[in-house]
Amino acid sequence: MTEVATEQEIRVAVGEWLAANWDPETSLLEWRERLTDSGWAVPSWPRRWHGRDLPSWADKVVADEIRSTGAVGPPLGGGMSLAAPTIVAHGSDELRTRLLRPTITGRVTWCQLFSEPGAGSDLAGLSTTAVRDGDDWIVNGQKVWNTSAHHADFGMLLARTDWDAPKHSGISYFALPMAQPGVEVRPILQMNGHSSFNEVFLTDARVPAANLIGEQGDGWRVARTTLMHERTFATMRRPTFPERGGGRAIEEAAAEAEEHFATYSWYPQRAGRPDLVAQLARRRGRGADPLVRQEIARLVAFQRANEWTAARARAAREIGRPPGPEGSLGKLAASEVARRSARAHSLTAGASALLAGSGGSDDESDDAVRVVAEVLLSTPAQSIAGGTDEIQHNIIGENVLGLPREPAPDRGVPFRDVRR
Ligand SMILES: Cc1cc2nc3c(=O)[nH]c(=O)nc-3n(C[C@H](O)[C@H](O)[C@H](O)COP(=O)(O)OP(=O)(O)OC[C@H]3O[C@@H](n4cnc5c(N)ncnc54)[C@H](O)[C@@H]3O)c2cc1C
Repeated sequence: MTEVATEQEIRVAVGEWLAANWDPETSLLEWRERLTDSGWAVPSWPRRWHGRDLPSWADKVVADEIRSTGAVGPPLGGGMSLAAPTIVAHGSDELRTRLLRPTITGRVTWCQLFSEPGAGSDLAGLSTTAVRDGDDWIVNGQKVWNTSAHHADFGMLLARTDWDAPKHSGISYFALPMAQPGVEVRPILQMNGHSSFNEVFLTDARVPAANLIGEQGDGWRVARTTLMHERTFATMRRPTFPERGGGRAIEEAAAEAEEHFATYSWYPQRAGRPDLVAQLARRRGRGADPLVRQEIARLVAFQRANEWTAARARAAREIGRPPGPEGSLGKLAASEVARRSARAHSLTAGASALLAGSGGSDDESDDAVRVVAEVLLSTPAQSIAGGTDEIQHNIIGENVLGLPREPAPDRGVPFRDVRR
């Protein structure tokens, strides 16, 4: 294909390729191998690494085209959203050759092993340690809140490789094979009844030296690339597939999505379900209550204004402008929408918002009430995951408003001497 520049040319090119190549009767793996070879799975990546060197906005254009044809794209999850872009940016050629293709085809899946009991907001204070032993590193420590670690093949692992360097400088980033005796994954039962994340205990776990991503001691810089991609990951939407049939590749993709979204089934409730607020108020006969109406109107106005801010930020990114303050504001706004929705839901549901589980009733409004219980128990996670509200406030204060930086008494001090 000649160099493509416009959105229309890209749509036509990928459309022609799909018309000639999409075959729902192949296996999902075979189809994704073909898609990977074509460069259309990840069009904004370098040609050498399965892409087409197109601008980043082309990814969405191509994904839309794949969806509208009824074909299947690359897998959902932390592999494609977080690990692969990090490896493209920082991995050795050997690592890119070994891990990118199986990640795009969905043969290997990933989890993120960043947070620790003593290092969440202060991630650079992590103390899981990796010590070099011949061609391997030996890892000891504990990670926590690791989504999907119970079925991942690899972990994006941050570990300290130098205790004498200042805290940000002594960290390295590894691709840790999860299936080994030194890795013990224990699911955490959440208060909303789900169990999407885990504790991960690392006891003399081994990771080959070749699985170091970026330079030794440069893990903090590499981790920032992963964190930059976390927002798009959080907003991913569930694909739709025909209820039954449609071909082997579609059936396998539907089963894959089913398994993936089983982990994330409570995430819409985590965001507060503002879409259900007015509907449930009406159903419960509270739509005419002036206090309820005010609360709902405030929520909807706030939510709409923030959608427009996000759309403005997206448009700026698509024409190549650097990210502005809208990103941090958007994260904070999402927490506020979740909180306001939870409040509005409790106002209309009253004590029945406490109901959960099966009530033995076929009334569909009972289901909606049970969703409210899940909303109330899930929204606290919205303002913690991906950086807490307080941390967003710090970022906005320092980077957007130009206020003095937060004191950092441990800056420049060997990590060994930092009080923990
Ligand atoms: C749904 C969900 C999924 C997650 N998935 C993963 C995952 O897959 N992998 C992974 O590694 N982690 C994951 N996490 C963990 C997440 O990154 C951490 O919970 C988060 O960074 C906060 O860290 P913490 O829980 O240790 O809280 P802490 O950092 O201990 O914070 C406790 C409180 O202190 C406040 N605080 C801390 N520092 C400051 C400061 N400097 N200024 C003002 N206030 C401060 C915080 O805002 C918070 O209110 C997940 C979390 C959630 C909720």
